[in-house]
Amino acid sequence: MKIAIIGAGLSGLACALTLEKHGLKADIFEKRGMAGDRFIYAEAIYSMFHSPFDDAVQYLSEEHAIDLKPASNIQKTWIWTENECSSIEGCLGFINMRGKHALSFEKQLADQLQGEIQFHQNVSHSEISRSYTHIVLATGDAADTEKLQPYYRALSVRFIGAVVKGKFEAMVVHTFFNNHYAPKGMGYLLPHSEQEASLILVYPQYPENEMLKKEDLWERFFLECCRKLNQELLIISTFELEDYQIGKTETPRIGNTFFVGNCFGSIMPFFGFGQFESMLTGIYAAHDIAGKGRYEELVRPLYKSYHDSLTLRRGIEQLNNKQLDYLAASIRKPLIRRLLLSKKISGLKIASRLIHPFQRKE
Ligand SMILES: Cc1cc2nc3c(=O)[nH]c(=O)nc-3n(C[C@H](O)[C@H](O)[C@H](O)COP(=O)(O)OP(=O)(O)OC[C@H]3O[C@@H](n4cnc5c(N)ncnc54)[C@H](O)[C@@H]3O)c2cc1C
Repeated sequence: MKIAIIGAGLSGLACALTLEKHGLKADIFEKRGMAGDRFIYAEAIYSMFHSPFDDAVQYLSEEHAIDLKPASNIQKTWIWTENECSSIEGCLGFINMRGKHALSFEKQLADQLQGEIQFHQNVSHSEISRSYTHIVLATGDAADTEKLQPYYRALSVRFIGAVVKGKFEAMVVHTFFNNHYAPKGMGYLLPHSEQEASLILVYPQYPENEMLKKEDLWERFFLECCRKLNQELLIISTFELEDYQIGKTETPRIGNTFFVGNCFGSIMPFFGFGQFESMLTGIYAAHDIAGKGRYEELVRPLYKSYHDSLTLRRGIEQLNNKQLDYLAASIRKPLIRRLLLSKKISGLKIASRLIHPFQRKE
């Protein structure tokens, strides 16, 4: 058996680590100079959107011997809309670092690897397909999937982000839903520490949104965030990404080529969460290669979550600011709060129910 993994990101490295646990070695190709060779920013993992996995970090450690240290736990999340503000409290999930940060998830995964990663190797499936019995496509880029099979794009999004200095509570996340600056999208602030945070605006690149000046949207969002948090944030670095694809593959594998991470369609369209699902697909592909399960079966629940998440997104996208206010206010109702925090019920499903009345009216 000769195995190649293209891409040393979350899915590729989770796959490589799991293969090693089964006594298998892979050639890992990474086009960049090191694991996490990208700008520093924070990402989040929310338990309520990853049901039935209550604690992703604990699950990865206990079930798959993959140990990850987040930057902090999320104990509270504020939901700001134009005229409302609600919060949810509890063990909500984790904030973790990405990119060049010493504790980025990709660096932590690479550190646990015994084998080597071949850096500066920008390879394509067609170049290496004859040399390997198994190929794991883990480039994080749906365009690579599209060269091999249909990929159903749900949307492309633009991220505009900054690392900001200010005064933050490290376990408190702020989210912003307001069509004036995040049309059909959202803004959020994820603290890295008590002094530093990622401030990110993300919205779909629909034609109507592309008519809007992105600089204006960002400025409005930044000022709104300073105003709501009642402080002057200082921007220390910025980044921008566009045409980031959210969608899913037609099939998770073709022969012995496994599509994992973004190449599979692991990003959940509603909030754009994809880290945990990416690692899961990598692990599942490794299980299949090691003869411990069938990849198509293992990823089936992920396709289901993808569809729930897409339904939720399409519903939320219909809401005007007044309806978003109403939604934020409804989160203060004890029953809804209990349902959202329930460990037994999928947060995705509950949230879909919440937006249904608006969908039916349209
Ligand atoms: C700005 C931003 C914010 C996000 N926020 C969140 C969040 O808060 N929570 C969450 O859960 N998810 C979030 N996501 C999504 C999450 O980052 C992805 O779902 C996840 O990283 C995908 O993992 P992957 O393994 O598919 O790709 P990646 O982790 O991106 O890894 C792909 C790797 O492949 C390498 N590569 C690419 N092409 C080649 C090639 N031809 N040859 C060799 N190597 C190659 C790349 O250099 C990279 O190292 C966010 C994404 C972005 C962009």
